[in-house]
Amino acid sequence: MPVAIQKLPLAATILLRSCNNSDATLDLSHTASSTDDLYLGIDVGGTDVKIGLVNAGGTLIDSHRTPTPELGSPERVFAFAIDYADKQLSKLGLQSEQLKAVGLAVPGVLDTEQYVLREVVNLPGWLGVKLLDTLCAASQLPSAVVNDANSAAYAEHSLRKLDRQSLALVTLGTGIGSGVVIAGNPHGGDHGCAGELGHIAVDFGPDAIKCTCGSSGHLESYAGARGVVARLRKAIELIDQESLPKSLMGKTITPRDIASAAESGHAISRNVIIDTGRFVGRAIGMIGQVADPAVVLLGGAMTFGGDDTEVGRQFIQAVRDSVTATTLVQVGGNIKIEFATLGNNAGMLGAAMVAKQTVS
Ligand SMILES: [Zn+2]
Repeated sequence: MPVAIQKLPLAATILLRSCNNSDATLDLSHTASSTDDLYLGIDVGGTDVKIGLVNAGGTLIDSHRTPTPELGSPERVFAFAIDYADKQLSKLGLQSEQLKAVGLAVPGVLDTEQYVLREVVNLPGWLGVKLLDTLCAASQLPSAVVNDANSAAYAEHSLRKLDRQSLALVTLGTGIGSGVVIAGNPHGGDHGCAGELGHIAVDFGPDAIKCTCGSSGHLESYAGARGVVARLRKAIELIDQESLPKSLMGKTITPRDIASAAESGHAISRNVIIDTGRFVGRAIGMIGQVADPAVVLLGGAMTFGGDDTEVGRQFIQAVRDSVTATTLVQVGGNIKIEFATLGNNAGMLGAAMVAKQTVS
């Protein structure tokens, strides 16, 4: 999918540095010509490493996915990615010199001074490693390291050609996070925790639910996947179980099951989803009042069908209504709240775009 790229400033979360260039080889693909500048994006998660070659216009030229555990350490992941790029470039008759920079997107808490991960799950061997130095050494190219949420937000920001405007990408799933682009720059915060939307308090009462982080009343406990299922279970516990939609009769219930029940007309499920939108909207309202972004996007695995379903549309309308109800009219009345569009490729694309920023 084409993604327009714009300028790239550097912000607290991005690290960039120019290494001594450059006999690193890279790859391009079918839509690339021998005169195109190319950028390599690497998105590392606990399950997969996604690698993509992207041109200066933001178009994904070629991509590859491989299981993270098979590679393991940062050194091996970077070597694999560079080797992949070399081989693809050669296969496509392109020159290694066309690869101009490499970007890495990582989960967890990224130290924005040292560019090391201070906290991360499911990536053994990555904690404390100087990722920027290691990536530079492996690629011999200008390199950048960015948190994956901010990377994805930057890709969506670029796609929309928002230039110096601000955007937040809220990711809904088991956890709730967000990536933030402030005035055109990905923003990680001074402690690597900017955009931790799941840990914004939305309930300050004495019965506020305890969060996994140890605090109470945080959004994730109410609107993360577990919170949504827990509210549904509570709502149906006194109801004749025989009357429930099929999707809610199993031992395990997922947000997808709840969306399916709501779509088939189950009012309780629909109300649980609407309430989820209200909780999310409260937290977005707080972000809105602080950062006043032009756009807030909802992405991740739990968007209840998104724009394609009536329930998804009701969900996002509940978010919008909640933001409007909890912010100044100049904020809530002007923030565009929409579903994200780049999906699973966003982190990889954003990493490549941040890499481009290092040499622009
Ligand atoms: Zn919390």
